[in-house]
Amino acid sequence: MHEHSHGGMNDWATDGLRLPLGHLPGTRYPDSRVEVLDKRFTARQGNAAIERIATGFRWAEGPVYFADGGYLIWSDIPNNRMMRWLEDDGHVSVFRTPSNHTNGNTRDREGRLVSCEHDSRRLTRTELDGEITVLIDNFSGKALNGPNDIVVASDGAIWFTDPGYGIDGPYEGHAAPAELPCNVYRLDPNSGNATVVASDFTRPNGISFSPDERRLYVVDTGITHGGPSHIRVFDVNGARLTNGRVFAEDFAPGMTDGLRTDAKGNVWCSMGWSDPAEDGVRCYAPDGDMIGKVHLPEACANLCFGGKKRNRLFMTASTSVYSLYLNMSGAMRP
Ligand code: MG
Repeated sequence: MHEHSHGGMNDWATDGLRLPLGHLPGTRYPDSRVEVLDKRFTARQGNAAIERIATGFRWAEGPVYFADGGYLIWSDIPNNRMMRWLEDDGHVSVFRTPSNHTNGNTRDREGRLVSCEHDSRRLTRTELDGEITVLIDNFSGKALNGPNDIVVASDGAIWFTDPGYGIDGPYEGHAAPAELPCNVYRLDPNSGNATVVASDFTRPNGISFSPDERRLYVVDTGITHGGPSHIRVFDVNGARLTNGRVFAEDFAPGMTDGLRTDAKGNVWCSMGWSDPAEDGVRCYAPDGDMIGKVHLPEACANLCFGGKKRNRLFMTASTSVYSLYLNMSGAMRP
């Protein structure tokens, strides 16, 4: 394969299901599927390449890494299960089923798993003894649409999106009427009360703070329902969001779904549903410039950072999970 040969990528991009586990066909260091668009993209590790670490899912989402246990958990939404991959030997097993069609996952400041459940239309926390605590399932007495993605701030506040893809039909939940607008919420850790922090999204989806928590990035996947396909950014003022503006908008006719920020404040987001050559992950500098891409053979829904040294990118992409070692280390949110 030639460097930056999108034609070559298309050959395997449309043949994703037949790929085995391990490094992708044609792997050669440095991996030409990791595309440097700007010198600020310093994350590419020269002697590393994309690996497919697990496959056989229907719609992989919500990756979250546990350094203490050395494993990755993610959701397989249509199959109503959550999966776990062990980093030491690559073993994959079912972590939880039924999962109530869980979608996004993260960890709170105490390290507990916090999850967005489509079918039961609620947020849950998995306690350290395995008990499940319901954090919220309604707002003002009306059922949530179905939380999609989630992030926990350093003060313990839980910020989440509620677009309602789980009530669109039976595949990722069950068909039901929406009782609420597609809001972004903040769940206060002390009172347990939720407030609407953004109400002008068509379909709010992925959500992540900048490392200093002064900014909040939120994806709008409204293109699935006649709306926009972009990432917005807000200034965080305590429990409120202000100064909302578009951060990145060059996704249509495809879209991004999930995102995370790295220690430098770069925004890593998933990409898919358009040209197969664009499937994968994009990296944006804090000023909104796209500085790098990771090309995958399948549409990518979400990603997280992990690994013992926090230098490993995990990507849930359609039927598979992919991993890539990066030239970085440091504090990155679960
Ligand atoms: Mg999502």
